[in-house]
Amino acid sequence: MPDSRNWFPETPATRRRRLTASRRQGMLIHLDGEQLINFASNDYLGLSFHPAVCMGAKGALDDAVGSGASRLISGDDPMLHRLEEKLAAWKGYESCLIVGSGMLANIGLIQALADRHSHLFADKLNHASLVDGARLAGGQSHRFKHLDSKQLSQLLEKHPAEKRIIVSDGIFSMDGDCADAAALLGLAEANDTLLLIDDAHGIGCMGPEGRGITARDNISGHPRLIEVGTFGKAFGSYGAFILGTDELIEGLRQRQRTLIYSTALPVAMIAAAETALLLIQRGQQLQQLRENLALFKEKTAGLGFMASSSPIQPLIIGSDEKALQLAAALRENGFFVPAIRPPTVPEGTARLRFTITAAHSREQIEKLTACLRELL
Ligand SMILES: *Cc1c(COP(=O)(O)O)cnc(C)c1O
Repeated sequence: MPDSRNWFPETPATRRRRLTASRRQGMLIHLDGEQLINFASNDYLGLSFHPAVCMGAKGALDDAVGSGASRLISGDDPMLHRLEEKLAAWKGYESCLIVGSGMLANIGLIQALADRHSHLFADKLNHASLVDGARLAGGQSHRFKHLDSKQLSQLLEKHPAEKRIIVSDGIFSMDGDCADAAALLGLAEANDTLLLIDDAHGIGCMGPEGRGITARDNISGHPRLIEVGTFGKAFGSYGAFILGTDELIEGLRQRQRTLIYSTALPVAMIAAAETALLLIQRGQQLQQLRENLALFKEKTAGLGFMASSSPIQPLIIGSDEKALQLAAALRENGFFVPAIRPPTVPEGTARLRFTITAAHSREQIEKLTACLRELL
């Protein structure tokens, strides 16, 4: 009989995932004694190390680190409610619920929304948290080809049910492309379904004032729409939030198991996220991000990057080996860019995934793109 030493089959070397302990200092990453420029962070606005954001967290630490219990027992804090109100107002929703992380938000949200009689209609490239939430809910899942609203429409026609939900990422994590939120809402209306959009990568970076792709498409706050955002990316902190109508959010307070049975977020994270929201609203970092992205796109024109207006800029390489080789060559030149391989992405689409942030300097982006041109 196997014990824990031979329980798992061995992962081939080109597929092995690695935890690489590194210290970060601004946009620099210290890795195995090397100092590299980090082009692999979701900290799109550089707020994770912004002095005001750090100060916000430090201020909250004077009283306690941990919250000690679930929000439904004694772990709740007025600061959570204040930030929920600010987020709801900013995004144009009635109500907001802060939970532990984006992963917990989606797993618990879909589990609460759907039961075994419900039908879910999901983009094939949706984030793992949405996939896992659907599995837990136990209803029927129908997956449509990436961004294919025609196929989605056909599936909706074919599978009538009382409770149906269309589920999509806003910005897709590995491709950097963008859902057509307005078209999805149109289908939700025409077919009498809910629409869940997880704009983890878009909120803070996309749309007017960084209010995400639903604001860009002018549908933010619609009663058919439920939205998820994270503090882990553009907000530079940790945690996540769900936006919707008063009744929906109250229903989640009663039912969402990842809220009820998990320790409340530390207030230091909330204080950091609240400061981050203020900075996002002021807009300086977003302006810088847009300039940096424009520079990156100008300097990589013709190199075959995927079409993406988000900070996620993937370059499909194809084979695992080649992608790994290129990542290693970039690393030798002082740049940290990950090779993303199957099973994270489909077979034969191994890629380099660059992320551009507001905190990169012009010079860092120019050096990277010059080096990439040379290597390709
Ligand atoms: C990152 C991400 C999540 C997970 O959010 P965390 O706060 O990191 O747990 C969920 N959905 C999408 C689309 C993401 O990109």
